[in-house]
Amino acid sequence: MKTPATANGISRIIFLLITPVFFQFFAIGFIWHSIYWGVITAVVLIWGFFILISPLFGRIGCGWFCFMGTTMDLAGRYSLRTVAWNKPNRWVRLLILIPFFASALTFYAVNKSQGLTHNFSYSPGFLKPEFTVHYAWVWTIDIASAILFGLLLERRWICRNLCFMGALCSAGAHFARLIPLVDPERCTLCGNCEQACPVRIPITGYVRDNQGLVTNAECIMCGACLAVCKKNAIRFSWVWNRSRLISQRNNHLAIIDSE
Ligand code: SF4
Ligand code: SF4
Ligand code: SF4
Repeated sequence: MKTPATANGISRIIFLLITPVFFQFFAIGFIWHSIYWGVITAVVLIWGFFILISPLFGRIGCGWFCFMGTTMDLAGRYSLRTVAWNKPNRWVRLLILIPFFASALTFYAVNKSQGLTHNFSYSPGFLKPEFTVHYAWVWTIDIASAILFGLLLERRWICRNLCFMGALCSAGAHFARLIPLVDPERCTLCGNCEQACPVRIPITGYVRDNQGLVTNAECIMCGACLAVCKKNAIRFSWVWNRSRLISQRNNHLAIIDSE
């Protein structure tokens, strides 16, 4: 099924192209800066939304909108290394999250004690020239590092190891109700979907051991696996009760085996 992958490609191109514009007018106050100044900015609202919906829709923010993710996936096609699936390290993620929030909150407390936060207001339409230059640099450095990491390291290395938004979305996506679901009776375990997956998720392992429920919190819901499956064995599906579906599928197999 190509539709989700096509829609995903269009969404990614649009957001990759509009990001520089967005940076110039709305980026003031990336999440760290927003805490630092004590203001709710467009970036906070957008990523707060994606984090909030991750227990339902998984990591669609990472797979459909983030310009860094798109750049890494494009660069990853020419990757100089072929690395198999590696689980993210939760401790590394925690080590990123703690200093990130601790430093931002510390600066906020210092600013507040000095009265610097009192008159600060978020007015994205009136960026000072130095901020415009600042975010142009941020964008350039982000894109350059996404290309470099995409070429040199395993797929989506930054997403798995460095990005705190990835860590928060991943925590929510552990409970995602919309997931890729494989029909084990159609699947031939050919592995094409795994090869196409930008995150290298071991989909066939989920067919063997999890009755086809791809319950991997690193899945970015891009639809690449659906597009390459010649057997139409995989689709996005709402699964409200995972254990019930697994036991239904187990029972179904037991009946077939006994016949
Ligand atoms: S983990 Fe971070 S860098 Fe990767 S796609 Fe998500 S938000 Fe973007
Ligand atoms: S591409 Fe389709 S048939 Fe092949 S392993 Fe993936 S889901 Fe199964
Ligand atoms: S499992 Fe499928 S939907 Fe999820 S990231 Fe991989 S290719 Fe995209």
